[in-house]
Amino acid sequence: EAITVQELANRMAERGADLVKALFKMGMPTTMNEFIDQDTAELLVTEFGHIIKRVSDSDVEIGIEGEADADEHLKPRPPVVTIMGHVDHGKTSLLDALRGTDVVKGEAGGITQHMGAYQVTLKSGDKISFLDTPGHEAFTEMRARGAQATDIVVLVVAADDGIKPQTIEAINHVKAAGVPMIVAINKMDKNGADANRVRTELLQHDIQVEEMGGDVQDVEVSALKKTGLDELTEKILLQAEIMELKANPDRMAEGIVVEAKLDKGRGPLATVLVKRGTLRAGDIFVVGVEWGKVRALVNDKGQTIKEAGPSMPVEVLGLSGVPQSGDILSVVENEARAREVADYRQQVALTKRTTAAPASLESMFAGLAEKKAMEFPVVVKADVHGSTEAIVSALNKLSTDEIKVRVLHSGVGAITESDVTLARASGAVIIGFNVRANAKAREAAHAGAVPLKYYDIIYDLIDEVKAGMAGKLGPEY
Ligand code: GDP
Repeated sequence: EAITVQELANRMAERGADLVKALFKMGMPTTMNEFIDQDTAELLVTEFGHIIKRVSDSDVEIGIEGEADADEHLKPRPPVVTIMGHVDHGKTSLLDALRGTDVVKGEAGGITQHMGAYQVTLKSGDKISFLDTPGHEAFTEMRARGAQATDIVVLVVAADDGIKPQTIEAINHVKAAGVPMIVAINKMDKNGADANRVRTELLQHDIQVEEMGGDVQDVEVSALKKTGLDELTEKILLQAEIMELKANPDRMAEGIVVEAKLDKGRGPLATVLVKRGTLRAGDIFVVGVEWGKVRALVNDKGQTIKEAGPSMPVEVLGLSGVPQSGDILSVVENEARAREVADYRQQVALTKRTTAAPASLESMFAGLAEKKAMEFPVVVKADVHGSTEAIVSALNKLSTDEIKVRVLHSGVGAITESDVTLARASGAVIIGFNVRANAKAREAAHAGAVPLKYYDIIYDLIDEVKAGMAGKLGPEY
């Protein structure tokens, strides 16, 4: 991972010029916008006397911890599934129906509590965890924050309605994340349900289900009549098996916050999906800019439990404050360490807030050239469908052997927060043709340093992208 001198300076809360000076002294003349590699960055951090603090994989700070687990420590873990699809196609109903397949009942006839995630144990004894945050925005927002919680996406498509705009959005978000998908063709009980029409429509979006000769699994279900659920869970487990999902349960726990709130009686609460290790009562942890000591762990059936292993969602009590969803929880050795890291992160968060500026197209190209990245990711929004198609096709033609334009998503209408989240998670530029970003999207773009480019002439748009690509890739000889 390369980083510019200026970015590093921001993270260290130092002046960029001082870093340049230090690099010069170390025999590495450079400028603020130049990229430096991790070793050099680490050297600088040490030089400036910062304690290297990286307590989780997702910490961008350069560091020494958060290393991968050795193979021999890895044990199989249950898959984590997110359900996505168009509004009213049955995401919530399917989640509820799947929850009903759980053979382990909670107390008092199975009182379940809402906490943003739950785990079912099937008749076979296999477990599957579900994230109860349907919608591609939450999914991509987490990814943008470096927390990939989902292993498998179940895409729900109503058999009587077919592919709709949000289905396409979900498909594009899932593709950009590189997460495997299983298609659940829902509402098969309804008159006018036509599963084959859904399969055919999916082809237009490059999703080939098995019956169409592809490798995406699909299953016909009815969330209402509870049919096809066993087949769906079987396919989820099959996909999980192919993926060989594993984690080390015997280490200090690390997890992702999927939901957090302030409870009147119980204080700050966070639902944490354990990624690796085992979380236990009494553990001391940092989570985002907060820290705490596990006072109690509560499962999705409202029961207090002693520990939670990989892929298990659990409610954690004992936090100093309310973290954000997408924050990483990491258990640390002691309270002093927890406070130190939380303080440091608070400082970093403050500096970031005051220095984040949208990246320019030029600096994006500079970054690409330095990192020798071969892709130029874009999100395209336009006022009419015809323009979207024309732009996407023209952009695709700009791809060369050295650099490929990759259209993550294209659509009609104003640039929304969802577009910005997707662009941010993938380091993409957003191109608006005769459309603009709404206020929320503009704010999000600014905060996330996502470049927004507006055009009203296709020729200008193509020309600018082309010039940027050619210029930064160097002249041809
Ligand atoms: P969501 O917006 O995707 O979460 O969709 P919901 O789960 O809220 O479902 C939307 C509507 O479709 C509700 O009225 C459900 O009762 C209905 N619905 C969901 N699944 C089925 C199904 O399998 N068959 C039928 N007939 N209706 C369903």
